[in-house]
Amino acid sequence: MAEQEASGLQLLLSTLQSSQDKEMILNVLSILTGLLSIGTDRRIHYMISKGGSEALLQALMNAAETAQPDYSILLPLLRLLAKVGQRDRKFGQKVQNLEAIDVTLSLARKNLTHHLNLIHCLWVLRVYASTISAGTKLGINGAMELLFKVITPYTKKHTRTVRAAIEVLAALLKSKSNSRRAVNRGYLCELLRLYQDWHRCDTSNRCIHVRRGLLLCLKHITNIQSAREIFLSAHGMEILFTTAQDCLDSKPLDPIVTTVAQILRKCYPKRPLPLATLRSSYSFSLPGSVSSEPSQILPEDDYDDDVEEVEKDLHSDDLEHKEEDDDLETDVSKLNSKPGLDRPEEELEQYETMCPELSLTLQELETESEDKNGSEDVPGNLLGPYPQVIPNAAFRKEQHCRHIDQSAMGPDTRETAFKTPMQNWEKKGNCTSPGLEKRAMGESVQDADTLGERDDLCRSHASTLHPLLKEASWDPRTFRTHCGSYFSPSPVRGVGASDIVKKLLERHQGDIPSHSPHFYMARAGSTKSILDYRVLAFPDFWGHQPPPHYQSLLERKYGVQRDKIFEDVCRLIQPGDVIDKVVFDVDGCSPSDTDAPDCLRFFSKFESGNLRKAIQVRKFEYDLILNADVNTIQHHQWFYFEVSAMKPVVPYRFNIINCEKVNSQFNYGMQPVMYSVKEALQGKPHWIRVGYDICYYKNHYQRSAAAAGGARGKSYYTLTFTIKFPHGEDVCYLAYHYPYTYSALMSYLDIVEETRDPKKVYYRQQTLCQTLGGNPCPLLTITAMPESNSSIDLEQFSHRPYVVLMARVHPGESNASWVMKGTMDFLMGSDPIAELLRKCFIFKIIPMLNPDGVINGNHRCSLSGDDLNRQWLAPSCQLHPTIYHTKGLLYYLCSIGRAPLVFCDYHGHSQKKNVFLYGCSIKETLWQAGCTINTATVTEDVGYRALPKILDKVAPAFVMSSCSFLVEKSRESTARVVVWREIGVLRSYTMENTYCGCNHGLYKGLQIGTQELEEMGAKFCLGLLILQLKSLSCSKKLMAQAAALLDPEEEIANRWSQRSSSTSSLETDDEPPCVEDVDYHTDSCSDQEADFSGLDEEIQEISLRAEGEREEEGASEGQTFCSSVFGGFYISSHQAANSKALPLPSTPLGVFAGCESSPA
Ligand SMILES: [Zn+2]
Repeated sequence: MAEQEASGLQLLLSTLQSSQDKEMILNVLSILTGLLSIGTDRRIHYMISKGGSEALLQALMNAAETAQPDYSILLPLLRLLAKVGQRDRKFGQKVQNLEAIDVTLSLARKNLTHHLNLIHCLWVLRVYASTISAGTKLGINGAMELLFKVITPYTKKHTRTVRAAIEVLAALLKSKSNSRRAVNRGYLCELLRLYQDWHRCDTSNRCIHVRRGLLLCLKHITNIQSAREIFLSAHGMEILFTTAQDCLDSKPLDPIVTTVAQILRKCYPKRPLPLATLRSSYSFSLPGSVSSEPSQILPEDDYDDDVEEVEKDLHSDDLEHKEEDDDLETDVSKLNSKPGLDRPEEELEQYETMCPELSLTLQELETESEDKNGSEDVPGNLLGPYPQVIPNAAFRKEQHCRHIDQSAMGPDTRETAFKTPMQNWEKKGNCTSPGLEKRAMGESVQDADTLGERDDLCRSHASTLHPLLKEASWDPRTFRTHCGSYFSPSPVRGVGASDIVKKLLERHQGDIPSHSPHFYMARAGSTKSILDYRVLAFPDFWGHQPPPHYQSLLERKYGVQRDKIFEDVCRLIQPGDVIDKVVFDVDGCSPSDTDAPDCLRFFSKFESGNLRKAIQVRKFEYDLILNADVNTIQHHQWFYFEVSAMKPVVPYRFNIINCEKVNSQFNYGMQPVMYSVKEALQGKPHWIRVGYDICYYKNHYQRSAAAAGGARGKSYYTLTFTIKFPHGEDVCYLAYHYPYTYSALMSYLDIVEETRDPKKVYYRQQTLCQTLGGNPCPLLTITAMPESNSSIDLEQFSHRPYVVLMARVHPGESNASWVMKGTMDFLMGSDPIAELLRKCFIFKIIPMLNPDGVINGNHRCSLSGDDLNRQWLAPSCQLHPTIYHTKGLLYYLCSIGRAPLVFCDYHGHSQKKNVFLYGCSIKETLWQAGCTINTATVTEDVGYRALPKILDKVAPAFVMSSCSFLVEKSRESTARVVVWREIGVLRSYTMENTYCGCNHGLYKGLQIGTQELEEMGAKFCLGLLILQLKSLSCSKKLMAQAAALLDPEEEIANRWSQRSSSTSSLETDDEPPCVEDVDYHTDSCSDQEADFSGLDEEIQEISLRAEGEREEEGASEGQTFCSSVFGGFYISSHQAANSKALPLPSTPLGVFAGCESSPA
């Protein structure tokens, strides 16, 4: 049957190619037209597969190459060609093989005054031109000269023909050789003039297609360097900018504005960043290496060339999310084998001391309890008991849903964001007891000497004291806390800086859970940074509490990107408004006149700070440049800096101009975070999401090929946001995400040590190793104390399975630290579930694997300039000590038969919402890669899926559907893959936490806050407990205890499973398109105009109207053929019945029966 149908179609096609009989040909064309005018594209593809394109082209040649071409045949034929050709991927080749280009061109030439015939030729030429090779051939054969005879200044006549000609030209100009030819013939300036003319005269906006078409021509021609130069010297920027301003208020004109913005961005002259060198401001001499600082002076001349930029993001973080199958590891032996040790076996012995829990003696046990009993008797125990329930952010949502501040996003946010009354926070504690202070001071004794020598550093703070006392007039502008200043009275102009801190601390209510300014200051005093920071950022010192309201994802304002681009273009065409003054520069000496009025002050020389340079562009606009990771020239993403001397209510625009990633969650609802000192002193110590008019786009700064080390020049991206500060003369801090410094971690651990319940919690803090920068990397052990001294309980104690957790290998991922804090708070807490968990497992935690990176404001690397999460295969003891020793500890555990049950490395994810895990599975990897290997022979425990499944039910921010268990080659040296393969841990994970927010579940539509991140950390623990309960080795006793506790949790789990089934997980994966067409790749040609969206409609419409409209030229002739052609244009039963000459199957539609439904 199918064969018969196919032969029916083939019969039609072969008749078309070979017949000389006009009636016959017209009948076939009529049938084909009818068949293709209904149904889906599948019919057309079916026809193409049966040689339809070739048949039509051959028929065209036959009909056109006669002395008197018969247009009653040609016109329906050309329409069919346009329709079929645009859907045939190999059309260009077929056209060239049959040498149809010249025939069609000369047909068009003959019809320059006959618009109906001409427009048909133009449609087909446009389809030809969509193939670069055919387009180039057309250009060589004079197609552009022909088109410029048709494209005229503004006219009301034949605008469709003009439009069709412009669309052919735009298609032709995608070929670079055509563009060069066009430039040489002066067509660029001609196009500009034509565009101006149409813009000026088309006041009723009836010719938007023509105007946009001309812009597309300009867009494509300016892909070559010489065209951009001519465009600039012909004032193209000014012309397009000005015309676009007339179009901004009319929605139908958006395509024009968008195209103008693309051209302006592309033609904006490329510049190097305004820096002397791309290398990080400070460098670190690696052990054993000669300090080399190749100063990269940027050559000015190699930015522009005609090479279209290939947008490949080489940034490793993006690689992490690349889902290309060719990255999958398909070597089964590699997946299956367990490599040997990367070091001598004897070395492992040193890690025995890192497992003191395995050799706990009865005596130790007793002294342990006694010691702590003593300290518990200290009157007024500092931080009180450690009340911990699973921080349930959901609870907060119910409490405060009224406060979800839609307004927190827009210009008027301040009102709600700042005036919401402080809520009473459950995690109250008092951390001002003298006992603790004493301890803190004692701890930093070793630093007393050095601090004394730094008295001079406490300069400039004298003026802060008196205003501080007079509350109303206190000027926080001059406030900065020096670490150690509390301990080193330093008379500067008669007033000690420590007094200021003292006064401040008197005001501190000490009500920020697990934070102590005293501890923080003490710890910061011994934190070692490259620049030897002596100044504390206020928020880290004072502490942060989550604000009492949720913050929604920021709704993107329509057109924000193009508005910002136009503002940027104004710098070029209205240079008079540009100030362009460097107001902050860590490389040079600070500019002397930064106290100038109307100028913000910036500062970043504190822990995790990394602003390198600030340039005042206009009165209320600043370009900011971030420092590169130490010893590198890249990895700009994290930011943290102080800004002061602001005016209230004024909108300030900030542009971070050296971002590197191709896209950002800042385009999808994420806001940066801000902390105001004045607000904090008024009892609102919150990092909050702020800023509006936020967007992220490619800018005109480029890294030259030379600076990029031989690679092709790479574009930078701008993150822009606008802020109205809540107070004038405040000190505010802005950051990429909620900061969490190394000193914050260390002082937090001090509090953990102080507040633990030693009768219940076995807790040890050790030093895993020293970092390159000389900072201790803490290693923690947490489990439950044995229930008694009995040998059974001691046995149970030392045989608990291990869980190894770590975080912050990537310093910019501060969200991972907040999740880790949630995990630790929960594990150390008094919640019965936590008690149970401690009885189940021994937790080994390395909360910060890259302290140096965190301290020095890096985003990705350590001081060696290496991404430490790419060093796990063969870490160097010298260069990557924290990785080397973490791996050593894991080797050791494995060597004594105690490889961890679960390993998880906490990370932050900058491109996705929600929280999810990456794990490792051989089978899933092989399946995904489409491997032909018989996977049935590969045995694999599917246990790796259990934990994420549980988390999907218990953790509101977690999404199973985003999880992946593929082993990628590019990940072979990450912790996850190495721990899975070399240590043999089945459940080896990377936890990816969003920086942005959730588009799923309970927190759908909200940005993530520290409370939600901490909750995730706690819920991860709960997940571990449930995992254990489900395991075979779970004791009956544990089961019973858990059953009593977990009922409410089960309810939550059920509630969640219900919710997650109602809100489909399908929605979660990819970002929905922005309302505004977010265009990053200004050079790409693959946007909408490449398809033929308008062509079919044009053809249809002209065909229908042609009869009535009667193009005026050649009236009589036109009339005759129009009626004769269009009279039979649509298939009718009458026509079909008339086609007696053809031995057709019963009905013509039967020709395609089957192809509609066949899986072609
Ligand atoms: Zn990471």
